[in-house]
Amino acid sequence: MPKVVAAHKGPKPKLGQHFLASDSAAQRIVEALGDTSAATVLEIGPGRGVLTSLLAQRTQRLIAIELDRVLAAQLRMEFGMRQNVEIIEGDVLKIELDTVFGPKPGSLRPGLSYQPEPARVIGNLPYYITSDILLRLLEYHRYFSTIVVMLQKEVADRLAASPGSRDYGLFTATTQLYARVEKLFTLPPSAFNPPPKVHSSVIRLTIQPRLEALRVPEAEFISFLKLCFGQKRKTLWNNLKTGYDQGALKAALAKTGVKPTVRAEALPLERTAALFRALQDGNS
Ligand code: SAM
Repeated sequence: MPKVVAAHKGPKPKLGQHFLASDSAAQRIVEALGDTSAATVLEIGPGRGVLTSLLAQRTQRLIAIELDRVLAAQLRMEFGMRQNVEIIEGDVLKIELDTVFGPKPGSLRPGLSYQPEPARVIGNLPYYITSDILLRLLEYHRYFSTIVVMLQKEVADRLAASPGSRDYGLFTATTQLYARVEKLFTLPPSAFNPPPKVHSSVIRLTIQPRLEALRVPEAEFISFLKLCFGQKRKTLWNNLKTGYDQGALKAALAKTGVKPTVRAEALPLERTAALFRALQDGNS
């Protein structure tokens, strides 16, 4: 008789499965979202449900997206009876956020604008796609007010960095264009099962887009940031000269008092935006 091999039921490292094993840390993470009794919360990667079970008791509506089919089925069994919890089996990078959070067909009467309460987001993120997830949430920031996530400590340090520090880069600037970043606390590998190789930190992003205050158009300014940070070791001048006429660049740098020899990471967003505007004015 052929031997029946039992399916492997352990964590899948490829999916970043390191389950939080500390109840007190789970409590702190959930509390960092504030009072959610009247809120919709999106949970990314609920796993075995350590945050989900706390959130289910204190959230008006909880939508949890889990990629692992077995875990999603287990979560459905556990939370199926709860009217306020919806488990979606899927990839958070692919799910149509407009469908989940946008206006529903027929919900708009002529003359009415659609402005639901923005949702909050929580998750101990799968680290292999941390930046993709965050950039996607920022792209859809109109649907969200607060984002509390656990990520690799080094990434948290980068996101919370100030201009001029070693950790400040394109990812920092883009994130801080949309949100205030607070680093809340750090956990050792032993707080997870199985333990990851790295320390983990919890951060809170409070969505506060700065585009209007900086007087810059979104898509163009993001492209400009990408150019400024194009090559990390290069000066602002060397990165920008690949996209601008040198005379216009010289004039804009002089007008804004930015030295051509600085690197992009030294500039606060206000000054990068001023340089962008000066270059736009020079072009018009
Ligand atoms: N929240 C749980 C906890 O704290 O114990 C699990 C966190 S674990 C670090 C990350 C979870 O994200 C895993 O359950 C994994 O299966 C899930 N995951 C991985 N990739 C995903 C994706 N693309 N979309 C949704 N969930 C994903």
